[in-house]
Amino acid sequence: MGFSGFALLKEALNGQRGWTEHWRKAAPKPAYDVVIVGGGGHGLATAHYLASRYGITNVAVLEKGWIGGGNAGRNTTIIRSNYLLDGNIPFYELSMKLWEGLEQDINFNAMVSQRSVLNLYHSDGQRDAYARRGNAMALHGVDAEMLDREAVRARVPYLDFDNARFPVKGGLLHRRGGTARHDGVVWGYARAADRRGVDIVENCEVTGFLREGGAVVGVETTRGTIRARTVGMAVAGSSSLLAAKADLRLPMESHVLQAFVSEGIKPLVDGVVTFGAGHFYISQSDKGGLVFGGDLDPFPSYAQRGGLPVFEDVAECALAMMPMLSRLRILRSWGGIMDMSLDGSPIIDHTPVEGLKINSGWCYGGFKATPASGLCFAHLLATGELHSAASAYRLDRFARGALIDEKGVGPTPNLH
Ligand SMILES: Cc1cc2nc3c(=O)[nH]c(=O)nc-3n(C[C@H](O)[C@H](O)[C@H](O)COP(=O)(O)OP(=O)(O)OC[C@H]3O[C@@H](n4cnc5c(N)ncnc54)[C@H](O)[C@@H]3O)c2cc1C
Repeated sequence: MGFSGFALLKEALNGQRGWTEHWRKAAPKPAYDVVIVGGGGHGLATAHYLASRYGITNVAVLEKGWIGGGNAGRNTTIIRSNYLLDGNIPFYELSMKLWEGLEQDINFNAMVSQRSVLNLYHSDGQRDAYARRGNAMALHGVDAEMLDREAVRARVPYLDFDNARFPVKGGLLHRRGGTARHDGVVWGYARAADRRGVDIVENCEVTGFLREGGAVVGVETTRGTIRARTVGMAVAGSSSLLAAKADLRLPMESHVLQAFVSEGIKPLVDGVVTFGAGHFYISQSDKGGLVFGGDLDPFPSYAQRGGLPVFEDVAECALAMMPMLSRLRILRSWGGIMDMSLDGSPIIDHTPVEGLKINSGWCYGGFKATPASGLCFAHLLATGELHSAASAYRLDRFARGALIDEKGVGPTPNLH
C-alpha cells in the first residue's frame, strides 16, 4: 500500500484498518541472483538500488536478527557531507543528494531534516583546519560557511561563551547537514525493496560460505543452504567474523560506540552542534530528548553495550560546552558494534575470493553514508565495476599505501 495524502485521509476515515505490513515475512528460496548478508541500512539500501536502478530483483537480504536491530537502529542519526579528503567528499555528497530525494524515492517518511551541522572551534589552529575543510567542501560544491564567535552566539546562544575552559571562537556551518530517523530509514528501504520483489529474510544467520573451486557460490545459513551468483556482505560490526568464514582477514577492528538520550525538554537545540575541544556532539529529537554521543570505547569488543569511562568523558564534554545540561537526566544509553577500519574509511570492493564482495569499514559514520553505500554497492554487484564515487574505497589500498585517513591519526582503528 502506497503512502500519500489521499491514503492518509482514507485511513483516517477508515479507522486506520487498511494499512498493510511494510514487508513480507519471506522464507528463503534455494537460489538467488544476489544474496546480501546483513539487513542493516547498507544491505537494504543495496537491495533497493539493485531492484530500482539495475532491475535485479531476484535478491535476498539475510538478517540474523530483526530489521533495524543493528547499528542502523542504534545510531545518533546525523547526516552530513562535511568531509575534507578527495576520496570522501564526492561519495558523501552523493549520499547527501540521495538523502534529499530519499523520501520520494522510497515513498516513506524517513524524517530527513536538514537542520544543519555546526562544528565549533576553540583555537586559531582549529579555525585554520576548519577553513581548509570548508574550502575543500566548497571546491566540491558542498555548502560550507565559516561563522565567527558572534554569529555562533546568535545561532546557539545557550553555549557557555563567557566562562568556558575552551572558549568558543567560531564554527564551520554545514546547513544541508542534519538528521534522519534511523529506523525509519531501514523500514523505508526494506519496504521499497520488498515492493520490487526482494526477499527480506529475518532470523537467518549466515554461518558459512558455500565454495566451489575456491569461489563463493552461496551461503550456509541457520535456515538452510542458499546458492547465489554473487554474495555481498554488509554486516558492519560483524565484518571480521563473517570474512573469516571465507578465510579473509580484514584490516579492521570492532569497537563499541555508545549513544545517550535525555528526558524530553522543550525545543532547545535546533541543529546538530559538535564540540571542538573533545569528542561530543548533540542534537534534539522530535520527541524532545537531547541525543548525544562521543568517543568509542577504546578496546575491541562485540558487547553491544559500553563502559562508564566513556560515559563520564561524554558528560564532561557536555558540561564544558553547555553547563546547563548538569540539570538534565539521562534516560537511556546503548551501544553498537562499529567496524573500525585501519584508516577510518570504508571499503566497497571485490574481495580476493571470487563471488564475494564487501561493504564494510563504516566506522562510526556509516548512517549518513547509507544511500550512497547502497547505490555504489548495488553498482558493484550488478556490473562488477566500482562506482566512480566510491572508487577510492578499495580493499587493496591498505597494501598500496593509498590510505584515506580523514582524521590524520594513522593506523589506529579506535582513534578514527
Ligand atoms: C551509538 C552510535 C551512534 C552512531 N551515530 C552515527 C551518526 O550520527 N551518523 C552516522 O553517519 N553514523 C553513525 N553511526 C554509525 C552507523 O550507525 C553505522 O556505520 C551503520 O549503521 C552501519 O551500517 P548498517 O546500517 O548496514 O549496519 P547494521 O545495522 O549493524 O547492519 C548489519 C546487520 O548485519 C547483521 N549480521 C551480522 N552478521 C550476520 C550474519 N552472519 N548473518 C546475517 N546477518 C548478520 C546484523 O544483525 C545487522 O543487522 C553510529 C553508530 C552507533 C552505534
